[in-house]
Amino acid sequence: MKRIAVLGSTGSIGTQTLDIVRRHPDMFCIEVLVAGSNSELLIKQALEFNPNTVVIADSSKYKEVADALQSKDIKVFSGQESVNHINDAADYDLMVQAIVGFSGFEPTYRTILAKKPIALANKESLVVGGRMIMQLAADNHVPILPVDSEHSAIFQCLQGEHYNKISRILLTASGGPFRGKNPDFMETVTPEMALKHPTWKMGNKITIDSATLMNKGFEIIEAVLLFNVDVQQVEPVINPQSVIHSMVEFEDGSIKAQMGYPTMTIPIQYAMTYPLRYPTLLKKFDFADYPALSFEKIDTDTFRCVNLAKEAINIGGSMTAVLNAANEVAVYAFLNRKIRFTDIPRIIAKAMNEHNTISNPTFEDLISVDAQTREKYSIK
Ligand code: NDP
Ligand code: MG
Repeated sequence: MKRIAVLGSTGSIGTQTLDIVRRHPDMFCIEVLVAGSNSELLIKQALEFNPNTVVIADSSKYKEVADALQSKDIKVFSGQESVNHINDAADYDLMVQAIVGFSGFEPTYRTILAKKPIALANKESLVVGGRMIMQLAADNHVPILPVDSEHSAIFQCLQGEHYNKISRILLTASGGPFRGKNPDFMETVTPEMALKHPTWKMGNKITIDSATLMNKGFEIIEAVLLFNVDVQQVEPVINPQSVIHSMVEFEDGSIKAQMGYPTMTIPIQYAMTYPLRYPTLLKKFDFADYPALSFEKIDTDTFRCVNLAKEAINIGGSMTAVLNAANEVAVYAFLNRKIRFTDIPRIIAKAMNEHNTISNPTFEDLISVDAQTREKYSIK
């Protein structure tokens, strides 16, 4: 029985993780549930899965959650500090880290220090922490199992290839809702338009990141860090059908791809059962559904965020934390209708230009760079 801690249990990845646990009760049990502010769903999940520990980041919801779980033998905590220090309060075998945004950084950092394996959906942890977080994971022998579908695909393609060098990673992208549009069109994009993703159903923040293609930029950084390759070796490729989840090219020119319907069930479950594969209830793939697969290059003049992300990881150090913080501030300002869609890359570029990079930042440096960037570029 693997004891699972789900961080971000009320979100898109979190609820899909619980679906997998529900389907394999002989394999997994839930030890910890952590949510932001959705007390109603968190209570429901706790009553169903009977974890040892529950944390709600929003302290104003503590009483409601504690009262509802009073008759159960469940420890209830609240506040961001409790989320960050979850490893002091609970024991488990695998963390599924599915908090959204920078709030996931400290829990990831402390989980690595606690030497617990992590199935990582919160890509912002890697973007913020950069090489520091990977070094820490290596020093502590902590496996980071990718949940992001592209990185799961790459990870799957690399199985059995231990002695072989990666020549290129072909990182696939759906292209998002504005594929093929020009810069003028982008000036007219509203939150409603950007929240309609053609192939994936996800939380709001990553859906906007997918519309600007910052999500692909983050994923390039994620691939560089997880698979120890140069930025030039990671080539984004648009596959609008989202059927090829990514590919790896080896030195002999051979390319391996991982394919399937667009679903997060497989990548989440693979990270949870690795190195084994377990059955799913997914419909068997029918090639007749996809008589043609197509591929395109990304238009980086229209989707500026991709090159901003590449620049940030090339500079390295604290620059990727600035990229993440400026993006987060800009995305929420856009969702709150304070700025235009095209202001998102403008704000990020400005923040990056004005930053003096710390080349080997500590955890504390990254926390303070994040706070300073948010303070300086948030739209009041
Ligand atoms: P959602 O917005 O759907 O869910 C986010 C989760 O994080 C919710 O449970 C939310 O709680 C919780 N949360 C937010 N802030 C805090 C906090 N301060 N402390 C504790 N919990 C918090 O996001 P997704 O599930 O879509 O994405 C989660 C992560 O996975 C992101 O980093 C994303 O980039 C990544 N990812 C997602 C994919 C997807 O298909 N959705 C695919 C690949 C990666 P509450 O709702 O209670 O406020
Ligand atoms: Mg992805």
